[in-house]
Amino acid sequence: MQIDLANTNALVTGASRGIGAAIARAMGRAGARVAVHYHSQRDQADTLAAEIGQRAQTFQADLGDADACVSLWKAVTERFGRIHTLVNNAGIALSCPPEGDITGWVRGWDATMAVNLRAPGILSKLAVQHFIEHGGGRIINISSRAAFRGDQPPYLAYAASKAGLVALTRSLARGFGKSGVLAFNVAPGFTRTEMAEDFIRQYGEDYACGDIALSRLTEPADIAPIVTFLASGLADHATGCTIDVNAGSYVH
Ligand code: NAP
Repeated sequence: MQIDLANTNALVTGASRGIGAAIARAMGRAGARVAVHYHSQRDQADTLAAEIGQRAQTFQADLGDADACVSLWKAVTERFGRIHTLVNNAGIALSCPPEGDITGWVRGWDATMAVNLRAPGILSKLAVQHFIEHGGGRIINISSRAAFRGDQPPYLAYAASKAGLVALTRSLARGFGKSGVLAFNVAPGFTRTEMAEDFIRQYGEDYACGDIALSRLTEPADIAPIVTFLASGLADHATGCTIDVNAGSYVH
């Protein structure tokens, strides 16, 4: 079956690289017009938007800033009109060692929560309002395996932020399903991106591979088709669910 996103508009946050870029590319290929959000990598975002075509456009915002989240949503809806799918993908994984000083640790905690949880919260709040006014829509949140099994001690904030995203998704699904708003959570395991490179440097690739049932690490392109499928409307009765994409980590 061919996934068809023609005549739909999507905002993908953190689409300049990694998992977000793969999602934006896949949604574009399926026919969606994509708002390619980026923070610092303008050139990569521009290149991707040009590759996607379909009148894709780039939008800059620091999602660590609450006002910038609101401005991003405003800019995208002004330019695109109706949005059908919001993909909250942008995220950071700051290492905050527990033995570090408390001031730095709290700074890391706050920065992580702002980008990974507050920003998806703000964008979801605005999207829900927009979806209710325009006949519905879908929110797809990119959480993490860390939400369910925890993470290494330097990534306590990261795991907690991703667990918050799961509860946000479920609450959106519960609260707004009857208003035509669907919400899904995708929880990748270890995926080969720049974010993962930091982890690989710290713990080694063998550590990451030792954790999975498959013989190669997950790539961003392994995540993207699932998001495209969720955006298509073919899985609406799975609203509130989490799809694990972790190379069989839980059955290993
Ligand atoms: P990545 O390669 O590090 O890319 C991160 C993306 O987020 C970039 O597009 C970046 O924009 C954007 N971003 C970073 N800080 C931002 C900020 N302050 N404001 C706005 N955007 C910001 O990460 P990734 O591995 O693709 O991860 C994508 C999502 O998947 C994240 O939510 C991550 O937690 C989740 N995830 C990843 C893994 C993994 O192993 N890689 C596993 C589970 C879950 P610029 O490039 O423009 O700065």
